[in-house]
Amino acid sequence: AREALAQAQKMETVGQLTGGVAHDFNNLLMAVLGSLELLRKRLPDDPKATRLLDNAVQGAQRGAALTQRMLAFARRQELKPEVVDLPDLVRGMTDLLQRSIGPSVRIETCFPLGLPRVLVDAHQCELALLNLTVNARDAMPEGGTITIAGREASSEDVGSLPEGRYVCLSVTDTGTGMDAETLARAQEPFFTTKGVGKGTGLGLPMVQGLAAQSRGRLLLRSGLGEGTTAEMWLPMAEASSHCEEALSLPVQPQAS
Ligand code: ADP
Repeated sequence: AREALAQAQKMETVGQLTGGVAHDFNNLLMAVLGSLELLRKRLPDDPKATRLLDNAVQGAQRGAALTQRMLAFARRQELKPEVVDLPDLVRGMTDLLQRSIGPSVRIETCFPLGLPRVLVDAHQCELALLNLTVNARDAMPEGGTITIAGREASSEDVGSLPEGRYVCLSVTDTGTGMDAETLARAQEPFFTTKGVGKGTGLGLPMVQGLAAQSRGRLLLRSGLGEGTTAEMWLPMAEASSHCEEALSLPVQPQAS
């Protein structure tokens, strides 16, 4: 519990820092972009100069896009937990997921009939799934299969969870996997192995934050060459100690 608190405090600090820095950077970059556009108007008709200017504009735009993502991360969104049927939620977004990752990787889903519903913010849960799916795709440059699955689980199956019944929502890939050091650091804010401009290192912290705020947990299982499974453990709506709260919450509308 002390570790979880330390992690939460770290996230809070990182969030505040990120928010401040991103905000200032965003303003600076907007000024840079504005000046560059003014410069363009005064520039002689020199193709080389125009190309250099285009490079500068592109760089500043990429920087602005990154600061936008950092701002979105820092803005601690209020979660709106509701009773969610995970198979429905996943079914409703498989097209979107498939489009986001391209055709080289196939998505399969595997949910048992009658899987209990969970208490989670549906929209944030979709974003988390998108993050996990994109990570899975990135780990499979040669293509492969992503399996999104759900199963009933109990806190006894894994340490450091409040006692109770859970649903484990998992995203499994057949990709490169992680070595022990990467696995140990993967959930740290800003930790990325994807290189500048590609990774932000904010995907897994977002998923971890959502799971923790939902009174669940993010668990990663991985080995080099063995692929990766990311598990979001979410408390069952029906069996949680917040049962009465849960009953008064709106049920997520059925995705057609
Ligand atoms: P980002 O995707 O921007 O790098 P994340 O926080 O989502 O940030 O992930 C952090 C790091 O964890 C990744 O850079 C990668 O090294 C590792 N990682 C995450 N998911 C996977 C996966 N499915 N397979 C292999 N490595 C992964």
